[in-house]
Amino acid sequence: MEKIKCVIIGSGPAGYTAAVYAARAGVAPVLYTGSQPGGQLTITTDVENYPGYPDGIMGPEMMEDFRKQAERFGTDVRYEMIEKVDFSGPVHKLWTESGHEIEADSVIISTGASAKWLGLESEHRLATTGGGVSACAVCDGFFFRGMEVAIVGGGDTAAEEATYLAKLCPKVHMLVRRDELRASKIMQERVINNEKIQMHWNTEITEIIGDKVVEGIEVVNNKTGEKSTIAVKGLFVAIGHKPNTDLFKGWLDMDDTGYLITKPGTSKTNIEGVFASGDAQDKVYRQAVTAAGTGCMAALDAERYLTEKGLI
Ligand code: NDP
Repeated sequence: MEKIKCVIIGSGPAGYTAAVYAARAGVAPVLYTGSQPGGQLTITTDVENYPGYPDGIMGPEMMEDFRKQAERFGTDVRYEMIEKVDFSGPVHKLWTESGHEIEADSVIISTGASAKWLGLESEHRLATTGGGVSACAVCDGFFFRGMEVAIVGGGDTAAEEATYLAKLCPKVHMLVRRDELRASKIMQERVINNEKIQMHWNTEITEIIGDKVVEGIEVVNNKTGEKSTIAVKGLFVAIGHKPNTDLFKGWLDMDDTGYLITKPGTSKTNIEGVFASGDAQDKVYRQAVTAAGTGCMAALDAERYLTEKGLI
């Protein structure tokens, strides 16, 4: 059993930013990367909206920079998963997948969220090679300005992203699998009244056309069975995200979709000494820069907690 003052779980912008702050505060953090070191940004290509990179940067390269910066101040980065936690006592227990037991005075959770995908082979291929399939309009919409695009989904995210894309693109095809939207009333009105957004009700994507880049999509009307093709250069998948918080079920307060609940204006969870940051607790903004901001908050909250308890 190993005693650690501050364990950070997750290696996206939130986790590494928490590590930079915690390490510089002398807390000697240990960061467990999880199964996808670098997080969601390692499956994107160009990042153009992260301040400080005037020429943009590739997502995986940016996460390497984050890691190096965290390590420079002494963060112990471990390429392993945390598999189990026990938050019942004042000292928090964690177990890695190899069975290593840890007692942590403070824990920062930055386990992120994962975009849900349709599950088509073409979708995976074109999303991982920057071929025009994306799960984030705010991140990638800019690359499609002046082009016709499609978005799939009918929730608030899809409605918000369709509205965002309509500012950049001449036409946005919104594909909804039912005959109504799940999005809030106000967002529904916004998309339906936007003349650049064309609604396709009861419509599902059966294939994405294009070898290296998106050239179009094949769709089917699930009521009539009618098949058609829509020529688009980009496809945005906005069918929901799943926060990676299953590990904390039964210990931490979460909403009905699994997002961790923090005390407003802080990173504090319902358990003393356990803090949450990044997409695991944010279903609204979900940007690298907001995740980094909440990672900073979590490290500052953890440091203050450890100081108050006389643990550092
Ligand atoms: P939701 O789960 O709310 O919506 C997902 C949408 O995708 C639904 O329309 C669903 O259809 C559709 N869908 C799911 N799977 C498929 C599939 N395989 N093929 C086609 N369509 C599919 O996710 P969101 O990300 O939109 O929102 C998550 C939460 O975050 C919500 O509570 C939302 O209100 C909130 N949110 C709030 C925002 C804000 O306040 N500004 C912004 C964004 C999100 P169906 O309806 O048929 O199930």
